[in-house]
Amino acid sequence: MSYLQNVLTQIETKYSYQPEFLQAVREVFESLEPVITKNEKLYEQEAILERITEPDRQIQFRVPWVDDSGKMRVNTGYRIQFNNAIGPYKGGLRLHPSVNLSVIKFLGFEQVFKNSLTGLPMGGGKGGSDFDPKGKSDREVMAFCQSFMTELYKYIGADEDVPAGDIGTGAREIGYLYGQYKRITGLYEGVLTGKGLSYGGSLVRTQATGYGLLYLVDELLKDHGSGLDGKTVTVSGAGNVAIYAAEKAQQLGGKVVTLSDSTGWIYDKDGVDLALVKDIKEVRRARLSEYKAAKPSADYHEGRGVWTIKTDIALPCATQNELLLDDAKELVKNGVQAVCEGANMPTTIEATKYLQENGVLFVPGKASNAGGVATSGLEMSQNSERLSWSFEEVDAKLKGIMTGIYKNIAAAAEEYGMKGNYVAGANIAGFSKVVNAMLAQGAV
Ligand code: NDP
Repeated sequence: MSYLQNVLTQIETKYSYQPEFLQAVREVFESLEPVITKNEKLYEQEAILERITEPDRQIQFRVPWVDDSGKMRVNTGYRIQFNNAIGPYKGGLRLHPSVNLSVIKFLGFEQVFKNSLTGLPMGGGKGGSDFDPKGKSDREVMAFCQSFMTELYKYIGADEDVPAGDIGTGAREIGYLYGQYKRITGLYEGVLTGKGLSYGGSLVRTQATGYGLLYLVDELLKDHGSGLDGKTVTVSGAGNVAIYAAEKAQQLGGKVVTLSDSTGWIYDKDGVDLALVKDIKEVRRARLSEYKAAKPSADYHEGRGVWTIKTDIALPCATQNELLLDDAKELVKNGVQAVCEGANMPTTIEATKYLQENGVLFVPGKASNAGGVATSGLEMSQNSERLSWSFEEVDAKLKGIMTGIYKNIAAAAEEYGMKGNYVAGANIAGFSKVVNAMLAQGAV
């Protein structure tokens, strides 16, 4: 049995109860095969695969808070510090009822490679809680965030571990978390990113993941002889990533016809009205079904269905495992040209393979959604030098980073004889830098 297969079997046995984590490891390992084979002796001797799949540490804690009726509630908090070979741990905090150790571990593992791809000095981490901010009052969200940070602050710091937003953690939550960190420690430092502009946040951070995704899509299409102008684009999700992906797609001449949330999806053949979506989602925090009420010419459907719409470019921007094999078949049947992930691991392994086998340009989230964490890295730089850069400056840097990521993953795939396989390219390029740093730092 090969070294890679041997380690995979060990992990599958040890963590059989962590399906999301195993899915992420299998996907990465599969595409790393040529790199591992080439360096098998050294990597086995140095236990590279065993070390890169085992987090440096995982912290789990109780988060008690009092709701508006005076009742005590309890959630579970997590922070997984996965790998800091190339920089301080960096990765978001997810607040969603589906959060568990397996989900946070998969996200932390992916984050290691994503952060490496940005070219910035950031290690990988992830955290969160099974707390659901939906339907909670601002006071309840604040009570939760303060309690969460009262434990988390012990493990984070501007040069140690710098969390950020993710699903359910937006500007409001980051504000409450930052306030509590500052109060407990007395430090005014860049310990969180995604902060408000009045207290150390960076311009473009809000838009960064969505805009970055489209900068990469644009580069990908140009490399294949076309552009976004006049293309139909389907987007899933209606959160931070989806909204700003749709906005940049429109700016680049694409026509965005769908968005979705956890209850349903809209199809607007005239092109989605983003001002209306922002009002529904960012201001009123309401359901997407309100879109139809305001714009009766659009369609609203309960449940899933975004991928049944004929499109040139599909951008899954909601959550993991939301684009399944049947969806991939439907997209291919309808002539999709590219699928680029805005969310983390939204496409199942079977769906990814089907898309690739059928000539669809497919870019995995660890490359295509890296604009968010890259801009977080730029926020850390600004905090360190106590300066704020202009929108244009940050946006230009983001664009440069996304273009660089595309070129880097395309070149890595080609180097190993897998031209056009961006999954392999992303895993190989992200892995190589981290492994070189691990080898240099010895048995740590
Ligand atoms: P938000 O919470 O802002 O939005 C998430 C969207 O997806 C919402 O529309 C939500 O619906 C929908 N959604 C969430 N869970 C489910 C589910 N189980 N089934 C169906 N729909 C669901 O999160 P973000 O936009 O920040 O994150 C989206 C994805 O992008 C995640 O995978 C995240 O990890 C990834 N990502 C985010 C980055 C960032 O900078 N924000 C950076 C890199 C990756 P509803 O409105 O009903 O809750």
